Amino acid sequence: MIWYPYQQMKTMKPPYKVVNAEGVYLYTEDQKLIDSVSSWWSVIHGYKHPELTEAIKSQADRFAHVMLGGLTHEPVEKLSEKLKEWLPGDLDYCFYSDSGSVAVEVALKMALQFNTNRKKTRSKVLSLTRSYHGDTFKAMEVGDDEDYHFAFGEKKDVIHIPTEIPALEEAFKLYHDNLNCFIVEPLLQGAGGMQMYDISFLERARELCDEYDVLLIFDEVATGFGRTGFRFVADLVCPDILVLGKALTGGYIGHAVTVANHKVYQGFYGDDPALALMHGPTFMGNALACSVALKSIELFEKEDYISKISRITDITRREMEGYTDSRIKEIRIMGGCVCIEVRDPAVLEGYQQFAYERGVFSRPFLNYMYAMVPYVITEQELVKVLDTMKAWFQ
Ligand SMILES: *Cc1c(COP(=O)(O)O)cnc(C)c1O
Repeated sequence: MIWYPYQQMKTMKPPYKVVNAEGVYLYTEDQKLIDSVSSWWSVIHGYKHPELTEAIKSQADRFAHVMLGGLTHEPVEKLSEKLKEWLPGDLDYCFYSDSGSVAVEVALKMALQFNTNRKKTRSKVLSLTRSYHGDTFKAMEVGDDEDYHFAFGEKKDVIHIPTEIPALEEAFKLYHDNLNCFIVEPLLQGAGGMQMYDISFLERARELCDEYDVLLIFDEVATGFGRTGFRFVADLVCPDILVLGKALTGGYIGHAVTVANHKVYQGFYGDDPALALMHGPTFMGNALACSVALKSIELFEKEDYISKISRITDITRREMEGYTDSRIKEIRIMGGCVCIEVRDPAVLEGYQQFAYERGVFSRPFLNYMYAMVPYVITEQELVKVLDTMKAWFQ
């Protein structure tokens, strides 16, 4: 029996059973659905993309997996070279893991040990209110989600601030001596309710991190690969550590990477074995995952995904312009993300089934009805997704 995620199993309605998927569509026995969620924001090229599928098949004919402890292989070498060249600044050092949460754990461990390696005791992490960084323990702790409050008393090593510059400056003033890092979902906080904020906050954060010698971590597990309209937010403000997941493999296989810059890498480099990073997920650098990730990046470049995403933004703005309803608190749009925030979560009860019957898969949560579509969606399909969202309020 399957224990489903984020569900009270006793009252959960049965999930829709997918029997096939292709392009932006999921197929159940009786319905064809546009996936407006991109399977938790990861399937940017749509399902069953011939080139991605081929990348996996041809690698599977060689070998599916070998461990990275004492071994290496071409797919992981090529992907790391590509990321080194493709990512901004000197974000050159790739540490792989099997999920975004683990990649966040690795980033936080790096930041802590970076300081102990240089004989500094800095135990605190600065993070944002409404942030989400994954479901493992330290990721839960730095995140700000009521659902996890059972796990922690007072959080003595994490300080949460809103995305406001005065609060940021105040936190650095008070805690800089004891901060090892500042971790953020840059520009767009996904699971915290598609909260959007201005780049000036991150520019100021970069200055303060430099001034006080605190590492800046961008968790771009959700925002990476174009979701905000920028390839990476790291292209605008460069962090010391960048975490990528979700769309890294085009949504084909769970994999993630923690990318460190030269300064962080140097903090672990030396003759003393005790300086080394002690981490090694069994499936890190999986050959199938690396092959498909490399192909995904090639497609992203070759087919100019940034212009596809800006087309999605334009259509979304056009369709949502001026749309209001007394039950709606706010409509937010950024890149390939649109969110209708309602005043009362009860307003969204039943929406998933309503959308299903109209050929759209949606998964609203709390007060948020949103779409994060695959970038290959046509104008007509996107308009259908947006019309379905609006139709709920008619
Ligand atoms: C989804 C997500 C994670 C966790 O990734 P998993 O692969 O589910 O472990 C971490 N950070 C952010 C910003 C995410 O959206």
